[in-house]
Amino acid sequence: MSSTAMLEVKNLTKHFKAGRGQLVHAVDNVSFTLEKGKTLGLVGESGCGKSSCARTIIRIYDPTDGQILLDGQDITHMRQRELKPLRKKMQMIFQDPYASLNARMTVRDIIAEPLLAHGIVKKKDQANDIVYPMLERVGLTKEHANRYAHEFSGGQRQRVGIARALVLQPELVICDEPISALDVSIQAQVINLLKDFQEEKGVSYLFIAHDLSMVRYVSDDVGVMYLGQLVEVCESAEIYRNPLHPYTVGLLGSIPLANPRLAREKEKSSIEGDIPSPIDPPSGCRFHTRCPFAKPICSEQAPVLKDVGGGHRVACHLHG
Ligand code: SF4
Repeated sequence: MSSTAMLEVKNLTKHFKAGRGQLVHAVDNVSFTLEKGKTLGLVGESGCGKSSCARTIIRIYDPTDGQILLDGQDITHMRQRELKPLRKKMQMIFQDPYASLNARMTVRDIIAEPLLAHGIVKKKDQANDIVYPMLERVGLTKEHANRYAHEFSGGQRQRVGIARALVLQPELVICDEPISALDVSIQAQVINLLKDFQEEKGVSYLFIAHDLSMVRYVSDDVGVMYLGQLVEVCESAEIYRNPLHPYTVGLLGSIPLANPRLAREKEKSSIEGDIPSPIDPPSGCRFHTRCPFAKPICSEQAPVLKDVGGGHRVACHLHG
């Protein structure tokens, strides 16, 4: 029986070496599953490890520990040469399309490059039959093909980044804060474009964002990360209706809540203070230094991510 999981991440850990023998605990023991054709939103403040997690999954970084299965295939320790054919299957859309697009290449060449690299076309001009329709598909035109990235607005550049990521018809796309740098009016257009592709092609998205409002309309499931760890994960509707982790409740602080109980809880647990250093994370629950509900056990014992019913998993001593 074939699996329905596009991506399985098991106990993924990524530590970076810092000076004086110290380690940056960027990602610690993160586990989740992304089903085929679905979207998992991964949310947290900057510095929570979500981008490091995404970059480790796509093997820009080598994992320190854990396992990554892409459509059932273990890619955790694959060499770059072995990964190359799989790059067609998994692509990434970056937060800052300007930094990720080569300033010396025309838009046509930027989108044609992966087609040439994967041998889908042999020569640049053969790519036009694929590049032009792709440009139109993302709301640009054939006339844009000979221009350079700096000639475009932020929204148009992100469309070029999306065209480049989707031209290979990948099955998994990691979207690393693809709308954070865009005007609010453009954000909805980019989201709709990604959703249309999903409906047409059945692509799966891991969608990284720094606040819960950004993933609300795209995600089937939502995971919340704090200081390198996944602290809550469940169906999207459930996380807005019944957030359990005090950090998630705090993150929801910017979103008006109709439910009076949640509104009161939100008020009590707005997040104060800065995120601690990932070089020396707090003992026990890493959120205890900022949590309004912290108890003595919280600084002594790390809570485990547990299913508290219906697939709603939370890591907090208040629950389970
Ligand atoms: Fe707060 Fe304790 Fe729950 Fe951590 S385990 S979120 S400190 S109540």
